[in-house]
Amino acid sequence: MICKSWRCSLHGGHSGTFCEHAEGSLEEVLEAAVVNGYHTFGVSEHVPRTESRFLYSTEQEKGFTVQRLEKEFRNYTKVIGELANQFADRLIVLRGFETEVVPTSDYRERMIAYRQSGDFDYMVGSVHHVEEVLIDGPTEEFRLICDGLGGLEALSIRYYETVAEMIEVLSPEVVGHLDLVRKNADLDVSLDTPRIRRAADRALEATRSCGAILDLNTAGYRKGLGTPYPAPWLVKRANTMDIPFCFGDDSHGPSQVAAGIENGRVYLLENGVKEITVLTRPEGSDSSTPVEKRVVSLYG
Ligand SMILES: [Zn+2]
Ligand SMILES: [Zn+2]
Repeated sequence: MICKSWRCSLHGGHSGTFCEHAEGSLEEVLEAAVVNGYHTFGVSEHVPRTESRFLYSTEQEKGFTVQRLEKEFRNYTKVIGELANQFADRLIVLRGFETEVVPTSDYRERMIAYRQSGDFDYMVGSVHHVEEVLIDGPTEEFRLICDGLGGLEALSIRYYETVAEMIEVLSPEVVGHLDLVRKNADLDVSLDTPRIRRAADRALEATRSCGAILDLNTAGYRKGLGTPYPAPWLVKRANTMDIPFCFGDDSHGPSQVAAGIENGRVYLLENGVKEITVLTRPEGSDSSTPVEKRVVSLYG
C-alpha cells in the first residue's frame, strides 16, 4: 500500500494485552497499522485508575483490581518501547498514554509524572468522567450524572469545563475526543446551545494556548453518532481559531485500526480543514529520538 503522509493516528492502539475492553495483542495491532498504510502510529494506552470505585463493571466481573491495572500499565511501558524498536523499519511507533481525570484530587500529579518519566513520547488528554462519574460507559451511569447536574445542558457545560481544566493543568500534546459527552446523549437533543458553546470555547482556547492538536476521532462512526468526534460546529470553530487536527482511530483491536480514517479525511475537508498535523520521527530512528510536528496536506 502506498504510504500517504496524512496516514497517521495519534489516538488508539489499545490492545487486549493491556486493556480489558480491547482485543488482540499489541503486536497484532501494530501489524494491522502496517497493513493499513500508516507511516506513524501513536499508541495511547489508558493509564491505570487507582481506586477500585473507578473499575468498570466489566473489570469488576472479571475480578480485576487496581493493582492489576497498575501492573499491566508497567508492562505496557516496557513492551511499547521494545515494539517501537522492533517495528522501526516498517512503522514509526510512538509511545503514548491516554489520561484520566480521576480522582480529581491527584490526577494532575500522576499524569505529569508519567509524562516526565521519559517512558513516553506524548500524552493524549482525555476526559471520561464528570464529577468522578463515568460518562463513557453504561447509559445508566450517564443518566445518573445527567440528572444529578440538572440535565444535558448542565452536564455538557460541566464536561467542557472539566476538559478545559485538564488541558490547562496538563498541556497534553493531543486533546482526545473533544465532545465525548455526545456518546450517551440523545441524538436529537441540541448540544450546541449558546451556554454549551461558551464552555466549549474555553476548552478550545486552552487547546490553542498550549499548542495541542485536536483528535479527529473516528470512534464516533462506530458508536453510531453519524460523525466522528468532534461534531461539525466544533471542527469549524477550531479551524477558525487555527487549532490543528490529527487523526485518531481510537482502535481497541486490530480490526479497528484505520477504521473510518478515509471518511474522516473527507469529513475534515467538507468542514474546511485542509491539512492535519502529525507527530512523528525521522524514518529509521529509534524510540529515543524525540518526536517532531509536521503539517501535511489532506489532499496528498
Ligand atoms: Zn478504551
Ligand atoms: Zn478515551
